[in-house]
Amino acid sequence: MIDLRSDTVTRPTPEMLKAMTEAEVGDDVFESDPTVNKFQQKIAALFGMEAGLFVPSGTMSNQLGIKVLTEPGDEILIDEKGHIFNYETSAAPALSGVQVTTLQGKQGKLDRAVLENKVRGNFDWEPRTKVVCIENTTNKGGGVCYSKEELSEIKEFADEHELAVHLDGARIWNAMTATDIKPEYFGTIADTISVCFSKGLGAPVGSMLLSSKMNIAKARRYRKMWGGGMRQVGLLAAAAEYGVDNHWPLLKDDHRRARDVAETIAGCSKLAIDMDNLQTNILIFDVLEEDAVSAVERLQEEGIVMIPFGPKTIRATFYFEIGDEDVKQVKTVLKKLFN
Ligand SMILES: *Cc1c(COP(=O)(O)O)cnc(C)c1O
Repeated sequence: MIDLRSDTVTRPTPEMLKAMTEAEVGDDVFESDPTVNKFQQKIAALFGMEAGLFVPSGTMSNQLGIKVLTEPGDEILIDEKGHIFNYETSAAPALSGVQVTTLQGKQGKLDRAVLENKVRGNFDWEPRTKVVCIENTTNKGGGVCYSKEELSEIKEFADEHELAVHLDGARIWNAMTATDIKPEYFGTIADTISVCFSKGLGAPVGSMLLSSKMNIAKARRYRKMWGGGMRQVGLLAAAAEYGVDNHWPLLKDDHRRARDVAETIAGCSKLAIDMDNLQTNILIFDVLEEDAVSAVERLQEEGIVMIPFGPKTIRATFYFEIGDEDVKQVKTVLKKLFN
């Protein structure tokens, strides 16, 4: 079975497991897990942020970011494809009491033109627009990245309107691999950044919120309130750190393999793909003569698992367990079924 559903299906390698069992641990609720403390500092420094908070999921780090940047009655702006809007069980209204206003960007990305005139005034009856949420790479947008210029344009707009920027960087590692933007640059754009270790980097669990010391102190309290205070969690931080140190350099191969398969898709008469927006490890393509569910079923019968991503749309995702032999097999099956 070649599982291309998501880059979250990775399993820890023997080396990663070894790093976990060798980790020095303590009770992190007392802030005395040395592995966690060291890892939080390391990732914060990497992104040019003051502090980091290790949390169980990307959803929790996104929601903690929104929590520390807003008060109930505020509004956050996000592209309509955003993970925070679509895939976090409506957590932002539920946990932070904020209104989530969606905007129609391109491939999940916002820009000045889209944001213009969306910041509300200061009347008692209006929500207070507080945060611009951006996602890099965009998941539902097909794994596309922001350029440096696009990021600085958003930061400039946010500064002009006194808005904070939250960056959902679940796949920021892929974005950095594809664009050469240095990690510390993101620290100059965003007030809060969420990064995940459980996607292409291959950790079994773990994300981190990065921000100022003050925001992270605040987030710590809410993490505990929301049940995310963990004890000897250095075991998991060690896995995450192993992923950053050893699997980050492998992402470029995932991107190459995704492109290789995309080229085959582009050549299949019953499939369509937008090659111009293929930048990282996520492929989004359309089936032309049947619905996505039936196409996915036919692929599954051939041992290849993808997910329907719309009535006619399918998503395939690449990660380090998918090697060149798998890619060859996927290409053979695609040609057989859809040419
Ligand atoms: C996966 C993902 C998250 C976080 O997901 P969890 O399953 O909660 O870890 C957040 N944002 C984006 C864009 C994602 O792809």
